[in-house]
Amino acid sequence: MAAILPPAMLGILGGGQLGRMFAVAAKTMGYRVAVLDPDENAPAAAFADRHIRAPYNDPAALRELADSCAAVTTEFENVNADAMRELARRTRVSPSGDCVAVAQDRIAEKAWINKAGLPTAPYLAIESVEDIQVELAPYLPGILKTARLGYDGKGQVRVQTAAEARAAYANLGGQACVLEKMLDLQLEVSAIVTRVSSAQSAVFPVAENIHKNGILDESIVPARIAPALAKQAQEMARKLAEALDYVGVLAVEFFVLADDSLVVNEIAPRPHNSGHYTLTACLTDQFQQQVRAMCGLLPGRTDLLSPVVMVNLLGDVWKDNGHEPNWDVLAEAPNAQLHLYGKKQARPGRKMGHFNVMAASADEALDQARALKDTL
Ligand code: ADP
Ligand code: MG
Repeated sequence: MAAILPPAMLGILGGGQLGRMFAVAAKTMGYRVAVLDPDENAPAAAFADRHIRAPYNDPAALRELADSCAAVTTEFENVNADAMRELARRTRVSPSGDCVAVAQDRIAEKAWINKAGLPTAPYLAIESVEDIQVELAPYLPGILKTARLGYDGKGQVRVQTAAEARAAYANLGGQACVLEKMLDLQLEVSAIVTRVSSAQSAVFPVAENIHKNGILDESIVPARIAPALAKQAQEMARKLAEALDYVGVLAVEFFVLADDSLVVNEIAPRPHNSGHYTLTACLTDQFQQQVRAMCGLLPGRTDLLSPVVMVNLLGDVWKDNGHEPNWDVLAEAPNAQLHLYGKKQARPGRKMGHFNVMAASADEALDQARALKDTL
């Protein structure tokens, strides 16, 4: 397919922080941007040429987006995959509705991962109450996760016994779930792949991810794992993208087990919080890659320019009744870069921004990043 070049208009479904950073990248590259998001204060709107304010599945709004854009992408997986399919009838869409459908349903997602020849945690798909009447020992102690609409640890219940698992399932109102065996994690890592075609893909350096309360807190790059293991994660991400015939940016989260083996946790059909370090530390960042992939351009080079640590800034940092944190300490650190998403309301757990710290080694960057965070 012919490459889409500036000043074409590019569309994005969703106007959160990922849409905002996409818009910045696209505008910088000379494209125009249209955002579909119902919120008048959507973070991406500040950088968009056009903001279509409507629900994500509004047929007229989808038509307007498709007809004004040379290509459309998404910033979140919980958009109805059918909306992506609808758009695809009128314009170029990536990733495809089928790929988004896989990523938004844990049952389909795990089946696809296994089908691609990659391991998941042992899991039981529970589509109705009969499915949970089997022997549950292989999945216990475990985590019951809703199949759809979970993020940042939401929609998850940890269970020890079969009785607890069945009670938790009933509590979730009988919606489709997976019961997943709780694994003993050495650490968590992610690999983000950009794929345009079989011959054209690029994988970013692997990030080591530390979560707090189910939400990403820090990403450390390079991940402090053996280079061969990092390479294996990159190859697995590439393999998964290939199996899905994926076009766009695909994030793959992994567990590293005690025996140094990798298990795929979940995928996201878009740039990922654990890839925000690329904004500072890679030759091409993940949002530029999203633009390049949707336009049919070659993925840019992903070389890491420096060890880096990304720290998420949640609303909790705005402790004193909404007063701004001490940005001066960050602003005065020459090796730190602050990114704020322009959200008006700071709420606990809400992703408000992040900062990246570059240093000679990942450990040094981590020490400095933590010291900076403590002064905010
Ligand atoms: P979300 O969609 O909310 O990110 P995840 O499935 O990634 O949900 O789970 C969130 C976090 O919970 C993971 O990053 C990991 O720390 C922990 N977790 C999830 N599943 C397991 C598991 N099977 N074993 C151990 N820890 C897990
Ligand atoms: Mg996750």
